Amino acid sequence: MDGGYTGLCRRLISEAGASIGDEVLVVTRKGEYRGFLMMRYELGAADHIVLKLANGYNIGVKVWDDSRVVKLSESRPPSFRAVEPPPPDPGLPHVAVISTGGTIASRVDYRTGGVRPALTASDLLSAVPELSGIARISAEVLMSIYSENMNPRNWALMAERVDSLLRSDVDGVVIAHGTDTMGYSAAALSFVLQQPPKPVVLVGSQRSSDRPSSDAALNLVAAVDIAAKAPIAEVGVCMHLGHSDDVIAFHRGVRVVKLHTSSRSAFKSVNCEPLALWTRSGLKIQAEKYHRRGGDDYRFMPGFDERALLLKFYPGMSPEVLEVLRERLCLRGVVLEGTGLGHVSSSFIPTLKRLRDEGVFVGMTSQCRYGRVDMLVYDNGRDLLRAGVVPLDNMLAETALVKLMWVLARAEEYEEVKRLMATNLVGEMGGRSMPEGVG
Ligand code: GLU
Repeated sequence: MDGGYTGLCRRLISEAGASIGDEVLVVTRKGEYRGFLMMRYELGAADHIVLKLANGYNIGVKVWDDSRVVKLSESRPPSFRAVEPPPPDPGLPHVAVISTGGTIASRVDYRTGGVRPALTASDLLSAVPELSGIARISAEVLMSIYSENMNPRNWALMAERVDSLLRSDVDGVVIAHGTDTMGYSAAALSFVLQQPPKPVVLVGSQRSSDRPSSDAALNLVAAVDIAAKAPIAEVGVCMHLGHSDDVIAFHRGVRVVKLHTSSRSAFKSVNCEPLALWTRSGLKIQAEKYHRRGGDDYRFMPGFDERALLLKFYPGMSPEVLEVLRERLCLRGVVLEGTGLGHVSSSFIPTLKRLRDEGVFVGMTSQCRYGRVDMLVYDNGRDLLRAGVVPLDNMLAETALVKLMWVLARAEEYEEVKRLMATNLVGEMGGRSMPEGVG
């Protein structure tokens, strides 16, 4: 036995002769808890034993000197045998599923409590057999990382792979992705894969598939169904719309953001409606305009220049922050996440003027998220405009940053950077801003 336990926990577990994965009963002054013995989390409390309960949740049970562990049954070695998938139906559409990591692309090892990447076609089909009735699936692991570890080079790798799949016989592409930065990746792919001929659907899950409330299977079913047949050929994100377990939203990649840490309905379209709503009975298109499947106007436009920054303004922030970062990072562009209609303190004006004179682009978005920036209303806004700040309409700050990196990779001159940043290229800005909650 090891499992990371020390001291009292280790003694109680050893006295019971229990090992990680065994079914045990932990008897404490607070109660009795039955479950499978899991490894201790590295940063978990030293006097807690971690159990996986029959309902799939993990709990930490606090133990004292007078607590006891009783071994109920030996663990069976973890044997995940993928069920042999049914032979692919040649009449079904062909969907390529690429795994990049995150919860949706992982499988829980019940013995250790750890997760590991698992995304062969048979893994997928045995986990979600329904998929075999929707499409012929080919699956591949492109990378296996938490999405907070993604960077523009990962976006580029993803885009290259999707580009080659879009040129093959597949009917659509699904990308399994960690949810934390899925919105950034969706925006990045939206700028690189312009007017794709087939849908490119990013999908994640907020709750791992070992939990009864997991959203993994339904999100995946909807994503594969959309990739296989939807008439909308855009880069988008497929996640639960609300708390109910039957409606999945397909959000435009440049308009979507994760707004909740743990809820299954964490993803919202901001300042527009989702592209479509999916249920088992069909797809309801919400967008007035969308790019249709099968067009011949596809353009692959790769490249990101990382010399860009997203800076959230807060009251009292010193303009020196911007000056130092500009120097240290050799910045060519900055997206400000300003207050309200698009403001930062007037103490920033001399710095902003200098940046403008040096050819560094500065764009303004709002921390309000909903609504658009309007820098003509207050004199401070007008002063910022005069200092060279460019208002970015109702574009999400995250999308504006990704777009800036993409624009910087293809425009040398300040005026061209400014023109592209202020132009709606793939639906990232403009349109009527919907009231909060609609998306
Ligand atoms: N934070 C990780 C990620 O974004 C895991 C959580 C998830 O998949 O949502 O990849």
